[in-house]
Amino acid sequence: MDSCPFCNSKRIIKAGKVKLKREILQRYFCKKCGKFFQERRIKNKSYPARIILQAVSSYNSGYNLKEVKEILSRKFGEIPQSTIYSWIKDFSQVCTFSRIRNEILQKFKREEMILRQKFFHHQLYLFQMHQAKLNYQLKFEENKKFSLLKEYLLKVYERKIPEHIFVLEDEELEKRASQLKAKLLPIEKIEKESVAKSLLSFL
Ligand SMILES: [Zn+2]
Repeated sequence: MDSCPFCNSKRIIKAGKVKLKREILQRYFCKKCGKFFQERRIKNKSYPARIILQAVSSYNSGYNLKEVKEILSRKFGEIPQSTIYSWIKDFSQVCTFSRIRNEILQKFKREEMILRQKFFHHQLYLFQMHQAKLNYQLKFEENKKFSLLKEYLLKVYERKIPEHIFVLEDEELEKRASQLKAKLLPIEKIEKESVAKSLLSFL
């Protein structure tokens, strides 16, 4: 161990031992950032999950590695870029969006990936639409039927849907709902759970 895993500083000193079930680890203290750490670090375990998740989600929001490092350092202090890169690599196998990130970034600028609009009715609602993902999905023949859904969502975003349909009194809404005989779109249940499980295995 020659440098601090948090800030890369070489100003580290030995600070006792940590006794685990099967081994005794050397503990260190970093004089620069004031953090303690141990000799042996298990990949992905030396940082709290929230930092790793923030890294992966920033990366998937379109920031590049260097920008992710900057975002993290503002919030949590310096983290080596190689560490961040290893998280992103590990998560790309389970995080479905990672697989399409690069393709999406060729067509969308980061700030255009998600459309956001605020609506007010009794309280503030944030409408968000991941148009980059939606566009990606609509490329596939079997998803073409959802193009009307995209049009609809875009109209909501552009405030072209008359807002009064959202502001009916509850009673009126119920009445209308019972009159509604439209066929529901066949929506496939996506195995979110298994993805979540594999994500958890990294924590
Ligand atoms: Zn340090």
